[in-house]
Amino acid sequence: MFGNKRKSDTKRLISFEGIDFIIRRRDVRYLRIEFYADKAVIITPYISDVGKFLQENRDRILKKKNQLSERLKKSREISLNFRTLDELMNIIDRKIRIYSYELNVKHRGVLFRKMKRTMGSCRKNGMLTFNTRLKYMSEDIIDYIVFHELLHIKIQGGHNRKFRKNMKERFPDYKTLNEQISQFMLKINNEENENKRNIF
Ligand SMILES: [Zn+2]
Repeated sequence: MFGNKRKSDTKRLISFEGIDFIIRRRDVRYLRIEFYADKAVIITPYISDVGKFLQENRDRILKKKNQLSERLKKSREISLNFRTLDELMNIIDRKIRIYSYELNVKHRGVLFRKMKRTMGSCRKNGMLTFNTRLKYMSEDIIDYIVFHELLHIKIQGGHNRKFRKNMKERFPDYKTLNEQISQFMLKINNEENENKRNIF
């Protein structure tokens, strides 16, 4: 779609609707935009008309930008919990006991790891992994994540319809929880890089 035959220029930055986009040319098939708290990056194939893409996707880009600036605003208002890793492990242990009983499932073990995006995961053998960054988040979120991972043991086949239905019924405010996780992650990343500037 963006495979313009004419060789594109090699600009490293492009300004659009008040946003400075960093252009990264890669061996990718399609152009995509990644918004971060401190930068907006366009990953684009070597031959591609970035300016045209921005024009054509103006509404979508502005919507995304507004969504992120709203999220950033909210993330500044929330306060992080400062638990130790031991405290987090205890909380998660307790929640695993409660929800394993509720779901009637058995897990194989628990690992903790600092992860960039994922809050938790569940292997086919029932091994659970949780993001150590959950220690900063609310107990509601920890409940939501632990339940989610244990539900994977009960309902195999990933995030299928049955899985999503169960999650929605158990956590009707799941949309708010997902948004709060994004806000917490923004806040945590910003605290970890205090000198980073925010563009919005
Ligand atoms: Zn999952």
